[in-house]
Amino acid sequence: MRAFNFSPGPAVLPLEVLQQVREELLDWQGGGTSVMEISHRSKAFVEVAAQAEADLRELMSIPRNYKVLFMQGGASAQFALVPMNLTAAHDSVVDYVNTGHWSRKGITEAARYCTVHVAADAGGSYTRVPPQSELQFSGAAAYAHYTPNETIGGVEFAYVPDAGGVPIVADMSSSILSQPVEVAKFGLIYAGAQKNIGPAGLTVLIVRDDLIGRARPDIPHVFDYKAVADDQSMLNTPPTFAWYMAGLVFKWLKRSGGVSAMGERNKVKAQKLYAAIDASALYRNPVARDARSRMNVTFTMVRPDLDAAFLAAAAEAGLLGLKGHRAVGGMRASIYNAMPLEGVERLIAFMGEFERRHERR
Ligand code: PMP
Repeated sequence: MRAFNFSPGPAVLPLEVLQQVREELLDWQGGGTSVMEISHRSKAFVEVAAQAEADLRELMSIPRNYKVLFMQGGASAQFALVPMNLTAAHDSVVDYVNTGHWSRKGITEAARYCTVHVAADAGGSYTRVPPQSELQFSGAAAYAHYTPNETIGGVEFAYVPDAGGVPIVADMSSSILSQPVEVAKFGLIYAGAQKNIGPAGLTVLIVRDDLIGRARPDIPHVFDYKAVADDQSMLNTPPTFAWYMAGLVFKWLKRSGGVSAMGERNKVKAQKLYAAIDASALYRNPVARDARSRMNVTFTMVRPDLDAAFLAAAAEAGLLGLKGHRAVGGMRASIYNAMPLEGVERLIAFMGEFERRHERR
């Protein structure tokens, strides 16, 4: 039996997609091999790659003056590759908004390549998003970076920052495709695939044309956005299986009504779960209401001594991956696109039962 998997990533994938992959695994398109055993240069695979890009473009209404790149190294590699591609030297200034764990990682890495100005620091426990009025951009930056959804803190922006014409760079690893976004507001979007796109191993970038071709001369060739774009992300062997599966997820998204339908479903899922947490005496969510993530719902228990028992009983009930990140503790339910409402409802019912079982008498 399939469990409900609340893992933060690698994460749940749509059942229909997994079934199709199983169906096609041994003999893909009648060719007598699996898709992962054929050349990335073969006509059949090049078509898979191009179709995935076309479907992503359609899903996100990506304007023509943006390139879609399929890279490797995860979002963490982009923490370095963004500054190496978009700035000229160590004294180039870049603006970063710090809202938690992943922003901080991005800042630390960028500081190795350029001069980071922190435009806002949501500081302390990182349970809020600074409003636009608190963002103090340097006015001299090559780009302004933020993390629309902090996967660990469960903190999400409800708006796209405006840096006064400076290109906005967004680490959308844990929120891409979860609701409509206006791509034209961004200079560059990047995301590791392993949450809302497909298996780990693939990193998707959406980059405005004018930001391509500015890389430092000593950047590794395979990480130069221009080289990658010029070669349709086929400079060297890409993670073909992950790319194929991402394509199947994009098709599934299109069949499911696209990102607006998904956005509505995600809103309902998150609202139900937060409502259950707020109504309970045992569970708490520390995040400011206007900054609560729709993708990663964090909660602690007023009795942390019950954490281990909660996780064990949840696993027993087929509810997996609920342990919070080691950096913050507590619990976290990641409810990406592929988590059905039924999974969230089962979790809510389980949480209620667990609470009743442990009521102080
Ligand atoms: N940014 C965010 C927002 C993330 O959630 C993650 C992974 N959980 C990363 C960056 C790092 O991604 P990767 O493991 O693909 O390098």
